[in-house]
Amino acid sequence: MKTLKLLPFLALISGPLFSQNQPKLVVGIVVDQMRQEYLYRYESKFGENGFKRLMNEGFMLKNAHYNYVPTETGPGHASIYTGTTPSIHGIVGNDWYDRTSKTNVNCVSDENQKTVGAEAGGAVSPWRMLSTTITDELKLSTQQRAKVVGVSIKDRGAALPAGHTPDGAYWYDGRNGNMITSTYYKQKLPDWVTKFNGQKLADKYLNQEWNTLLPVNQYVESAPDDSPYEGRWKGKNKPVFPYNLAELRKQMGEFSLLAMTPFGNNLVADFAKAALLGENLGKDDITDFLAVSFSSTDAVGHAMGPDAVEVEDVYLRLDKTLEEFFTFLDKEVGKGAYTVFLTSDHGVAHVPQYLKDLRIPAGYFRPAYVKATLNEHLQKYFPNKLLLEEVTSDQIYLNQSAFSEDPKSSGVDLLVATELITNFLLSTEGVAQVYSTSTLRQVSTSDPGIRGNVVRGFYSKRCGDILFALEPGWLAWGGVTGSTHGSGYSYDTHIPILFYGNGIKKGSSSQYHAITDIAPTLSVLLKIKFPSGCSGQPITEILD
Ligand SMILES: [Zn+2]
Repeated sequence: MKTLKLLPFLALISGPLFSQNQPKLVVGIVVDQMRQEYLYRYESKFGENGFKRLMNEGFMLKNAHYNYVPTETGPGHASIYTGTTPSIHGIVGNDWYDRTSKTNVNCVSDENQKTVGAEAGGAVSPWRMLSTTITDELKLSTQQRAKVVGVSIKDRGAALPAGHTPDGAYWYDGRNGNMITSTYYKQKLPDWVTKFNGQKLADKYLNQEWNTLLPVNQYVESAPDDSPYEGRWKGKNKPVFPYNLAELRKQMGEFSLLAMTPFGNNLVADFAKAALLGENLGKDDITDFLAVSFSSTDAVGHAMGPDAVEVEDVYLRLDKTLEEFFTFLDKEVGKGAYTVFLTSDHGVAHVPQYLKDLRIPAGYFRPAYVKATLNEHLQKYFPNKLLLEEVTSDQIYLNQSAFSEDPKSSGVDLLVATELITNFLLSTEGVAQVYSTSTLRQVSTSDPGIRGNVVRGFYSKRCGDILFALEPGWLAWGGVTGSTHGSGYSYDTHIPILFYGNGIKKGSSSQYHAITDIAPTLSVLLKIKFPSGCSGQPITEILD
């Protein structure tokens, strides 16, 4: 329908196959590890046309949360795009213990695929995600005419949003600095991707210095630059600006260092623009979908903790990157012709040591130590029996073969063992709650509390036999610098949801919404089916 471009009035009188009022393009933006409060914390330093364009001209949900554990990147991206929780879409972690292979499996690894664009490291597909995504539904409703592309530094940040049927999903290869894909999507890289890689942008970004965008003494929203709670880079004795990337890359993993700098976000934005042009997204009357995930925010956040000047600088630079990206969309798709949503895959905890030093409850949980001491404890009751197969930061997988024998002859009773393990865990410092699978079965999936979060994150074929939650502020994290996420507490669950553009009202709301409400909202906006496993509800207050 190219003539419509020349004669736009014809669109009004022709019988539309697809609604003329619908967006030509939906752009989904996920900012990895972004708390809702960052929008306020950095607001005075943001420009008018990045985050604040969405806040002031779009609709801002101030009270949106993840409604399950674990709050991690894989489950987060899957839940945003499927409109449901791990209990249904099956992405129960970034990786999880697989009882069949007795190894940890990654949420997007697929041994039936091969890397395209690099030697290895890209055997990826969304096959473990059990629900359709909003992007799949857009494909299904248009007889595959809609175009869908996913882009991220992380493979899971591209593969899960793009769904099962996209035109492409691309992620960054830390070994060669290129954007790559897998045979699930393409047998060879499209020409526009090869051309993009030929520009060697990762190399250019890593040959510059990372200094603060503004004079460092203006970063009053953050802790002092030289803080004991921030991780140190190899080759630097203090965690302070400037970072001479050209020097530091030699000791910090060469191309893989890019993700730990704000320029990882720049590369993703550069590639998103190239994808839009290369795949002609947003150019006809059939709605296309570009899913973009920015994850340098997560890498810097883990290393430095949420109060670091480094994190603030990544956000101030991302604000500029977003401004340029929206200007590009105005030009290429047309202002008012596209719809954007921006959210995050999870928040982050404070550095526990920082909280401890302030006398706020917090601590460090050691799964390996707990596994060893729990094993010893069980040996007293069941000598020479190996009852534990795997202990993670929030789950215990029992060695089921130890219980499969005749209980009278083996002497191991599952209920007795479960009770012993539960009591042991409850006496362990930092453990708040313990749930066996039989107790979880009695919890309603609409339970709003932490227990409900555990149930909504539980998919029995992939989860352990005994699950537990740590106390607020407690993390399974290796050192006294940096931080992580994964809990069902508000610092990990409370994230921004912003909608902007075609079909979206201007305003804000403090009403509670779950992350699973984004996908059905898009279904209503696009007049298409809800994703197959959808358990969320459309956010009606934002729709025109
Ligand atoms: Zn993370």
